[in-house]
Amino acid sequence: LHPRTQAAKESIFPKMSALARELGAVNLGQGFPTNPPPPFLLEAVGRALGRYDQYAPPAGLPPLREALAEEFGVVTEAVVVTSGATEALYVLLQSLVGPGEEVVVLEPFFDVYLPDAFLAGGEARLVRLHLTPEGFRLDLAALERALTPRTRVLLLNAPMNPTGLVFREEELRAVAELARRHGLFLISDEVYDELYFGERPRRLREFAPERTFTVGSAGKRLEATGYRVGWIVGPPEFMPTLAGMRQWTSFSAPTPLQAGVAEALRVARGEGYYEALRQSYKRRRDLLAEGLKALGLRVFLPEGTYFLMAELPGLDAFWLVREARVALIPAAAFYLQDPPKDLFRFAFCKTEEELSLALDRLSRVV
Ligand code: GLN
Repeated sequence: LHPRTQAAKESIFPKMSALARELGAVNLGQGFPTNPPPPFLLEAVGRALGRYDQYAPPAGLPPLREALAEEFGVVTEAVVVTSGATEALYVLLQSLVGPGEEVVVLEPFFDVYLPDAFLAGGEARLVRLHLTPEGFRLDLAALERALTPRTRVLLLNAPMNPTGLVFREEELRAVAELARRHGLFLISDEVYDELYFGERPRRLREFAPERTFTVGSAGKRLEATGYRVGWIVGPPEFMPTLAGMRQWTSFSAPTPLQAGVAEALRVARGEGYYEALRQSYKRRRDLLAEGLKALGLRVFLPEGTYFLMAELPGLDAFWLVREARVALIPAAAFYLQDPPKDLFRFAFCKTEEELSLALDRLSRVV
């Protein structure tokens, strides 16, 4: 096999889920919801089966592109549908980065960014967030220092997995300005765009629409991570090329799921679905955070996503899944080296019963 297959190393997320299943552990590891998707999505997909069963155009099924274009306030040509945000990121890095070129990535990072940069022949340059008692903070000066003449892309993720960080308007403005000054593209992974707990965050593309590619996910928004429907919204002149590139990965995303998602995105917006989702996640975030604090643990409260980071001093993720029967993701999964000690990511896209059970099990070992 070619040496590039070293990228085939198994991701920790499915590995932890398999262990959790095998050991009967509560799975607060991999981020997928326990609750089923909303009925309006299931019904829309049901109606699509038998009607939308053949290939969709590689750029996406027209009603889905139109629904997204309307929502983002862009022309339909600015939208390309992908098989999940994962394919969107792969296609973007293949299209924007070449051998010897660099992508600046914030650390802690979602695991897919590094292999994607590597498979494009490029390299990720990491900029570590500061971990302060108040939480994770972006150091804009460090971001600028990380740029070299070989930098092509700055990749941001907000609301951010695993930290739950949401960037301030001044930070987004500064990043956009930096990209403009250095002639860089911006990739903004916004798969958790509807999952925030304070004010609605601004989008990076608002500050640099001419160079920003926004990545989104129906799986995250509609609680159906198995549907593999994602999208890229970007400058219209580049989008036919991105659609062309994705012909060679999955060609098109599953047609009936695109049709169902197109309908469901409109219903979700009209029926206040996202507000209800945020409220339900805020309740679960607080239940978990309060429970961990009551055990004397240090918690970094997220401003978005369905992840929370907290410290469990002296404990190991593989010991925890076996002995405490709680699956968590160790911070090491999000760092290339020297992860902060004792830090774990908890996914709270689970039921309140699962969260309470996990707290109960943890109370016996901390
Ligand atoms: N996004 C999910 C997480 O962070 C997992 C994604 C995956 O397993 N590929 O847990």
